[in-house]
Amino acid sequence: MEYIKLNNGVTMPMLGFGVYQMNDLAECEKSVTDAIQAGYRLIDTASKYGNEEAVGKGIKNSGVAREELFITTKLWLQDAGYEHTKKAFELSLKNLGLDYLDLYLIHQPFNDVYGSWRAMEALYKEGKIRAIGVSNFRPDRLMDFILYNEIKPAVNQIETHPFNQQIENNQFLTDNDILHQSWSPFGQGKLNVFENELLNNIAKKHNKSVAQVVLRWMIQRGIVVIPKSVHLKRIKENINVFDFKLDDTDMKDIKSIDTGKSTFKNHTDPEVVK
Ligand code: NAD
Repeated sequence: MEYIKLNNGVTMPMLGFGVYQMNDLAECEKSVTDAIQAGYRLIDTASKYGNEEAVGKGIKNSGVAREELFITTKLWLQDAGYEHTKKAFELSLKNLGLDYLDLYLIHQPFNDVYGSWRAMEALYKEGKIRAIGVSNFRPDRLMDFILYNEIKPAVNQIETHPFNQQIENNQFLTDNDILHQSWSPFGQGKLNVFENELLNNIAKKHNKSVAQVVLRWMIQRGIVVIPKSVHLKRIKENINVFDFKLDDTDMKDIKSIDTGKSTFKNHTDPEVVK
């Protein structure tokens, strides 16, 4: 596993395990255990996913020491505001069966995010969270956060995959020393990423799968990835990306398939806020 240092000095694994849409809780629990036993050290959940308890059980069953793991969960937008955030955090911690979190993210850039951030800053100072960050923030909101809060977010987790490469956003995050984390590296398997000809050719050249090429491409851009799978074969395949390197031509070629557009939630659309 490779690690990256956040702006507060905490180290974070470059690749983790996402559990969005793992609604079968027994399957979620088993997948988390499988992932940790396969070598994953970062688990990414959210209170909104409704599976924090299953994630907690999966962690426990893995037998791996808590301090070796990096656990992220997220604050849902209806829990925004100072007091609500403190309660939501305690509930997440209880559901996960943990006594501290490695990373707590504001899930959506809406509602009283400033009240939430004050609560997160306080929890961070108390040592209950090792790093605090945001998700789905565009550069304007993030700059506002950088300028008018005491603690700068350590991470922004945003939709990033070969068809939405977030090149400008990545530059903004790099310039401001905020880690870029990708969500839906495979576009949730819905965008025919695995059928893409260019990615298949690069995969063949390296004797790897398209999934491995996509994850490697992201890691070489300094972006932390959290692919999801409930199948042991794919769980193992998705972490097996540290034994090869894409060359400059591969990186340049992959750049050519960017559309610069979101395929999922458009956070500039007022309807998305509801
Ligand atoms: P993903 O892009 O990781 O795609 C997962 C799907 O890809 C699987 O269901 C499967 O169909 C396919 N797949 C996985 N590995 C494969 C392989 N090796 N070969 C072939 N197919 C494979 O989708 P995701 O779950 O949406 O994103 C990853 C994680 O990002 C989530 O689980 C969650 O933790 C996080 N996320 C966060 C937000 C946010 O708003 N912050 C939004 C979406 C997702």
